[in-house]
Amino acid sequence: MVDYQVCTRCVMDTTASDIVFDENGVCNYCTTYLKRMEDAQAQIIDHQLHRDELISTIKADGRGKDYDCIVGVSGGVDSSYALYLAVKHGLHPLAVHLDNGWDAEFAVQNIASMVDKLGVDLYTHVIDWEENRDLQLSFFKANVVDIELLMDNAMLALNYQQAAKYGLKYILFGYNMATEGMNIPPCWNHYKYDVYNIRKIHKRFGSVPIKTHPIFSTIDSLKYSYINRIKGVSFLDYFPYNKFEALEFLEKEFGYKPYPYKHYESVFTRFYQGYILPRKFGYDKRRVHLSTLVVSGQMDREDALKLLEESPYPDPAQEERDRIFVMEKLGFTEESFNQYMSAPEVPHEAYGSEKWLWDLLSAVARIFR
Ligand SMILES: [Zn+2]
Repeated sequence: MVDYQVCTRCVMDTTASDIVFDENGVCNYCTTYLKRMEDAQAQIIDHQLHRDELISTIKADGRGKDYDCIVGVSGGVDSSYALYLAVKHGLHPLAVHLDNGWDAEFAVQNIASMVDKLGVDLYTHVIDWEENRDLQLSFFKANVVDIELLMDNAMLALNYQQAAKYGLKYILFGYNMATEGMNIPPCWNHYKYDVYNIRKIHKRFGSVPIKTHPIFSTIDSLKYSYINRIKGVSFLDYFPYNKFEALEFLEKEFGYKPYPYKHYESVFTRFYQGYILPRKFGYDKRRVHLSTLVVSGQMDREDALKLLEESPYPDPAQEERDRIFVMEKLGFTEESFNQYMSAPEVPHEAYGSEKWLWDLLSAVARIFR
């Protein structure tokens, strides 16, 4: 067991198992982040110079087609703003949403009012709930950390499938370097294309046959990139982007409803990040976000440390409502849920993984670069 230590510059600590500190107690996470921000600034400037070029290329690619690009929408600020920017610049996106049964009500309203006012077609894929529930329960029974892997993987699959269906080459993501910030410690989540891991865990703990759940493997990523020639674009990096200003704009123009924390447009994600992750696994994702704010000078380190002492749930009554809701929807009893919460973590790799394939392909790609 390593002694507990927290970085003297940010608020990352030894819950990130690969954290290292220099002689001043400064960690590798904020050091890497600061270095990356320097590089990112140059890259963002370069992107913005080539914005018109990108937009014309996307338009040209869409000629004669129903759409020219896909924008995945979650109801969150980043993807909503990416959708707005796409339309503002004359693109004809198809908005794609994955409904896995956990959408917060305001997320659904946000998506509806955005596509309505922008005049954009929306494709919503409603996931087969029995399959999704069985997959999620398998991940619970396996005691692996990244239950959100299922949703993240299915979302990728859906975006790429829709792009391939309409013969489109561009998927615009709301991901952006300016606000995403620090790396998530590798032990806090898992490789997102790991279909082998999903299948193995489901085979061992699941009981409902998986027939329609969208999946995205390492081989799929190759197929879509090299055969279908589909590119994922971090669209917001092509624009000056300030999340607070974007939010204000969306509220004013689209009646957008804000939500308290990042990625909380799904009730499950809110409960997973605010309750399961910190209490069962000991990982608090706020640490990464707050560290980013501290290091970039937007928050005092002391204030961040104080916030981390408080529960990730701003409202204890909400926490209890979410707990009951999640338990009942998945079919836990009070007792079986408590058993789950006290069972030790099992690494994803214990069930088998295709991450080795990705590592191998990346190594080969580096040689030929
Ligand atoms: Zn640090």
